[in-house]
Amino acid sequence: MDSNEAIAPRLFTMASVTDDPIVGIDLGTTHSLVAFCGEEGPRILGNDDLVPSVVRLGVDGAVGESARANAVLFPERTIHSSKRLLGRTFAEVEAESGRFGFSIVAGHQGLAAIQGPDGQVVTPEEIAAKVLGVLRERAEADLGVPVGRAVVTVPAWFDDAQRQSVRDAGRLAGLDIVRLVNEPTAAALAYGLGKNAGTVLVFDLGGGTFDASVLQLVGSEEERFFRVLATKGDTQLGGDDLDAIVMDHVTGLIEERFGSVTFPPAARQALRLFAESARIRLSAEDAASIQLDLGEGRVFQETLTREWFESQATPVVQRAVACAKEAVRDAGVDPANIDRVIMVGGTTRTPLVRNLVADAFQTEPYVALDPDRVVALGASVQAAILAGTNPGLLLLDVIPLSLGLETRGGGVAKLIMRNSAVPARATEMFSTSEDGQVNIALRVLQGEREMAQDCRLLADFELSGLPPMPAGIPQVEVEFLVDADGILSVRAVERRSGKRASVQVAARHGLSRAEVDRMEEESLTFAKSDMHLHRVADLVVQAGLDAKWTREAMGRVADLEPKYREELERHLSTIADFVAQGQHDPASVDVHKFAEARESLDQNAMRLHELAIAASLRDESAGD
Ligand code: ADP
Ligand code: MG
Repeated sequence: MDSNEAIAPRLFTMASVTDDPIVGIDLGTTHSLVAFCGEEGPRILGNDDLVPSVVRLGVDGAVGESARANAVLFPERTIHSSKRLLGRTFAEVEAESGRFGFSIVAGHQGLAAIQGPDGQVVTPEEIAAKVLGVLRERAEADLGVPVGRAVVTVPAWFDDAQRQSVRDAGRLAGLDIVRLVNEPTAAALAYGLGKNAGTVLVFDLGGGTFDASVLQLVGSEEERFFRVLATKGDTQLGGDDLDAIVMDHVTGLIEERFGSVTFPPAARQALRLFAESARIRLSAEDAASIQLDLGEGRVFQETLTREWFESQATPVVQRAVACAKEAVRDAGVDPANIDRVIMVGGTTRTPLVRNLVADAFQTEPYVALDPDRVVALGASVQAAILAGTNPGLLLLDVIPLSLGLETRGGGVAKLIMRNSAVPARATEMFSTSEDGQVNIALRVLQGEREMAQDCRLLADFELSGLPPMPAGIPQVEVEFLVDADGILSVRAVERRSGKRASVQVAARHGLSRAEVDRMEEESLTFAKSDMHLHRVADLVVQAGLDAKWTREAMGRVADLEPKYREELERHLSTIADFVAQGQHDPASVDVHKFAEARESLDQNAMRLHELAIAASLRDESAGD
């Protein structure tokens, strides 16, 4: 046996694409996804796209986006939301059959089945198999090998019949489902929650369903697993209900303006898509406008505000929050003792949902991983564990690479140094370098190099809506916080205006041990030249500001002696030369001389600044 193997930490054993990979699949009601977890951690396969869980019955048998996009044209043969029918009898689903645009009948042994317009009867397992088949093709195209095995997720409350249905669908699709994993468990696996996670609430608000699950990590060091302490849900609560709010409002306004209008099914379907896209826009913007051509010269136009939407949506979201609280109570846990909340499902992108959940459980929910992808990512982590390969997450007690922020000029201000123990926290003050800046771009970086372009960009966000202030006046406090699970939260607040913004990232995702080693090595190789570039970049920014302030002061002092003015001009021109050289050929700059030039401008301008202050005091008293 290779002696290296014996001492290699178990976590870092190789996990490339094997001949027989196991993929992770989230078979969702609205969307489905396939992921694979290699050495760099889990990733979504096939362009990162969500596959709509929609199948068109008929000869062409479109699946996914093309089936969804043309649903308006083929309402009776476009099968959506069929996960709701899996493993259930017709009697069980009869009451809700009105929600589907196609007809549901009693099939074999009274099980719910779907009847197409040509009379054909298909089972929900066959529909699911079509979706699984598309996911499998995507996985094969992406990985470049045949894919025959998968871990598939199911809601925690799925009973044996429903689970068996998913297995059957896998068999029809030619996939060996090696394990079914509960969706909330998969979400927790994706975050790589460790033994410090405590009690975890998974809040899953999807397209049409809501699930809340309370998990606890149990077991020994070798074999840890999540126990589902309680689960509660609402099968009729999700993004669809929020769409309905917008639709009802819009149809109400249309009738007010144009009198009663009857909508044919295709128009209703189109209106629903309009409503959904407006609602999704309101997650990022304060207002969204809708324009609908109703024919006969009638054009409906309306702008919806986020404020209006939130006031209408609050009762719906509160239903989900109340349901989550019940799950927590059922688990025998005090809501104040929930340690982590993980957000799952596309609808949790709605800011209102995040805010109400944060309020209810007094903790900032985890949103670092995309809520519509986190379940698939977690399924692939489970797959990697079953395959005996590296789950891909660097579960470390220390921060493997430094974390920082890009500064003006392209340097990196490191806030948390590598090898800091988790949890770790650091704050730093920043300001602007231009007058009247109303937006500040914040770029969060990881790595050991001195310049931003040589580090890994983890996230970027913007602090916006600042009142215009002169350069250097805003006080932006930036806080970096890495919690015990390795989740990085970055918060920025401008103290004078109170404006704030934040972002959350799973900093160890997409990072392999080899990558960490490479970045560390490079930082040593380039240490000297990097340091040089960083100092030049900082000097360019600082000297530029110095020069600007000097010129402003010169403008304020009307009666400056010509000789002194000349002297200042000479210094300014030296500085301008250094700045230009620093911008165009930083490697050639003599940092020492540059710093000296800056220093001597500083010395020389001291008297000027005193004169300028005196001048402005004079102006002020003259104005009285
Ligand atoms: P499911 O698990 O039921 O398949 P998903 O997790 O895919 O559902 O969630 C789909 C829902 O997420 C849809 O209702 C969609 O409108 C909603 N959604 C997607 N993106 C956003 C967004 N940015 N803001 C609000 N809702 C969103
Ligand atoms: Mg889901």
